[in-house]
Order: sequence, then C-alpha cells, then structure tokens
Amino acid sequence: MRKLFLIFILMVNFAFGVSIIEQIRFNNSPNQIVLDIGNNEVPKYISMYDKNTRLLFLEVDNTNLSKSVDAIIEKNDETIERIESMEFGGKSNFFITFKEGVNYDIKVWKNPSRLVITMIKEEEMKPIIVLDAGHGGKDYGAMNGDYWEKTVNIDMIKLLGKELEKDFNIYYTRKDDTFISLTDRSKFSNGKKAVLFVSIHSNANTNKASNGTEVFYFSKNPSVYAKSVADFENSVDEKYGIKESAVDFLVNDIIYKQNQERSKRLAKGIVNKLADVTGFKNRGVQGANFAVLRGSEVPAVLIELGFISNDQEAEKLVDPQVQDAMAKSIAKSIREYMK
Ligand SMILES: [Zn+2]
Repeated sequence: MRKLFLIFILMVNFAFGVSIIEQIRFNNSPNQIVLDIGNNEVPKYISMYDKNTRLLFLEVDNTNLSKSVDAIIEKNDETIERIESMEFGGKSNFFITFKEGVNYDIKVWKNPSRLVITMIKEEEMKPIIVLDAGHGGKDYGAMNGDYWEKTVNIDMIKLLGKELEKDFNIYYTRKDDTFISLTDRSKFSNGKKAVLFVSIHSNANTNKASNGTEVFYFSKNPSVYAKSVADFENSVDEKYGIKESAVDFLVNDIIYKQNQERSKRLAKGIVNKLADVTGFKNRGVQGANFAVLRGSEVPAVLIELGFISNDQEAEKLVDPQVQDAMAKSIAKSIREYMK
C-alpha cells in the first residue's frame, strides 16, 4: 500500500510537476529579456506595471528558478535598471525596473517554452519624419547677390526640426553645408522608415517680379509651369554628373495615387498657413516630377518658401523672425496632417 502511494505521488509530480526557469537571457536590437523554461508548454503568467516606479512585476505559474539564475541582476543598460528574481509557492516572481522612457511588450512561446519581454524606447515609437534642406555644399541653389538658397533652406530645416522633435523622430538629409544628390535624399528617407518627407527650397525666376509661396507634390503629369520649377530643381544631379537609379521608379501605381492624395492634402495645409504668416502671394499647390520626391515610398512635399530672386521676398526669407514664424506655421500644418 505504502509503495503504491509513493508511485501515485511520483505520478502526480510528473503530471503537474513544476518546471524550471533555466536562465534569463538578454538580446540586443531589439532589446529583450528572455526567460527559458524547461518544458514545451505555453507559459502562464500574470503581470502588473507601476508607471511611477517603472517596475514590472511578473509571476510565472508552476515554475521554480534554476540555481544559475541570479537573485539580483544590476543590468543598467539603456532600457533596464535591474531585475530581482525569487520563488514563492511554486511560482517564479520577477521585479523588473525599466529605465525612464521605456515601454514593454510581453510574448509567450511554446516548443521550447519561453517568455519574452521586448523593451521599446518611447522615442523610437514616435513617427519618423525626414526633413530635407534643398541643395548644399558646391550646389548653392538659387542666388540673389549674397542671399543663397542653400543657406535659407538649412536655417529653415533646423528651426522646423526643433518645432517637431517633441512629437516626432526627426532625421535630416543634411544638417550642415554639404552636397547630397537628389536620389540619395529619398533613399535616406526610405531607409529610415520615415512616414513623411518634407523638402524645403526657395524659388527663383529670371523675372525679378515673380513672387509667392507654393508647395509641390509628386506628379507624373505636371503643368507647364510646375515642370519648369521641377526642371530647375532636378538639374542638380545632372549638373554634377550623378546618374539616376532605376530603383527610384519602383513605387507602384496604388502607392503612387495614395501618396499623391496625402501629399496634396498636406501641401494645401502648408501653403495656406505659410502665405498667411509671410504675407507672400499664395500660389497654391502643384504636382510635378521632382527627382527628390519621385523615389519616396511615403507622402512627400517640396516647399518653395518664396522667391529669393525677388528682392523684397529675399529680405524676408533671411530674416530670423520671419524664418521662425514660417517654421512654426509649417510645423502646425504637419501636426494637423499627422493627426
Ligand atoms: Zn531649390
């Protein structure tokens, strides 16, 4: 009888026996905590999170901790401060303190059994916008005496970036006076997985009376005027002997249409507000085949702030106060579009 009882106990232990959490592992990119559990089941757990202390409590059912699991791990990397582990009543408990600005996501796996906590930095969760200052380096863009388009563009991009960086992850195709080809700009943006591409330029015309603000989106069927502006902006790569890559034409027709509609909506918002703050003539929005917009996989606009060839507008385009007002105005339109 006693022997039978012992066998029964052994069987119960076999069927309902606790598993061992064999180790705590860490992965980089993405940052993860992995708990390897010595069975093939889907782990059962409960979790609680306290935002103030940034403490995640995790209790994994029916498990004990391997002796190799340290009671306290002072991790202190970019996402985790420390991890405390302990057993209690056939459950394993973990107290994980995250660094500030870190979010997490828990997933479970079977065969082999695993519990994976992925840490996501909040700044990485912000949508990515690429800001593009037209021209740069040996390419001055449009000029009017000492007023250079490349300088106005970079000043404006920096101000705009400052306005947006609280809510978006901002990347710049250039942050100083360097030359970048047109095709490299959209490639950079696609590589960053941006949701929006915004290029800033200043216009020019041989007729010094030409004036006003206009915003462009990509179109395969431009008007004669829009084509002339695009031809000027597109001449950069050819001028410096850069061949266009066939890769830039891969965006398919459905994406093209969708991006065009979205870009047009953003362009309208930008041009209307911008003309209000500068007092420049509102020349509206137009579609044209800009090389810098053509390769973009996401909505993209090109802003011609005003005419640097027009003396009155040039004075305003270089005025820090006007630049600040323009940056605030463009940022407002982008925020409205992103809602
Ligand atoms: Zn330009």
